[in-house]
Amino acid sequence: MEIPERISYSQARSWNTCRYQWRLMYVDHADAVTPPGLRYGAALHEALAAGFRSLLPADVMPGPSTVRDVALDALSDAWDKHDVPWSEGYDEAVEIIERQFRDSIVRGHVVRRDVIAVEEFLKSAVAGVTHDGVIRHATVSAVLDLVLKLPGDLVEIRDHKLGAPRASGGDPQLGLYAALWDAAHPELPVGMVSLSFPTGGELDVRRIDVEPIWPARSVSYVLRARDEIEDAAVHGDTPPNPSVHACSRCDFAHRCPAAVVVALPRARVD
Ligand code: SF4
Repeated sequence: MEIPERISYSQARSWNTCRYQWRLMYVDHADAVTPPGLRYGAALHEALAAGFRSLLPADVMPGPSTVRDVALDALSDAWDKHDVPWSEGYDEAVEIIERQFRDSIVRGHVVRRDVIAVEEFLKSAVAGVTHDGVIRHATVSAVLDLVLKLPGDLVEIRDHKLGAPRASGGDPQLGLYAALWDAAHPELPVGMVSLSFPTGGELDVRRIDVEPIWPARSVSYVLRARDEIEDAAVHGDTPPNPSVHACSRCDFAHRCPAAVVVALPRARVD
């Protein structure tokens, strides 16, 4: 089995959720069909990225209405691209985008010029101690939704979540992002990470300082999965692990004989 040369948090999570899903996605590169309940989230994610991208520092910064127009155009395009029915919450999605980029918020970003990276791809060789106490190395990659500059030459890494709000402390995805950012940008270390929940009635951002042990634990989580993947590459051991939660969010349920699928209400895309 030819395994990917690097691992990401999404890949580690897929591995830990269902090894057959991991194989279809990362080894076989099988045709994926995103479940209908997740397409809404994917479209909203793209619109948020477009809006924040327009706020990256430039000689002439846009006004609030321009930023909203950019994001709303992206929303409309993404709705088409992901084949989301227009009756499936489009008006609500427009309200979410308008709330995310309302005048006071856009002006704050423009004044601070604090949006410094959007959908930033990072790749780094990392080392860490896995659960069995052995030092491992792997190439790890990630795409960061949003990076904001903080006072004191620090940054905040933010991830948009389109599900129910929850605390951000200890989140392994955020910890891994912090580790990768610090490796790539030691001159601008991560001071804070956050989860934002744009679908909430009010703007809901859960921020937390990064404790040093957190990124290290997150790296270990990914390295452990990488260890197991390398072992599976030898033994070819990638059985399905069906569950309602996993299969309803799986891009390969349409072709998996073990799938257990129920209709999913609109849900998050990480
Ligand atoms: S449908 Fe379920 S069992 Fe099949 S690959 Fe996806 S998560 Fe695994």
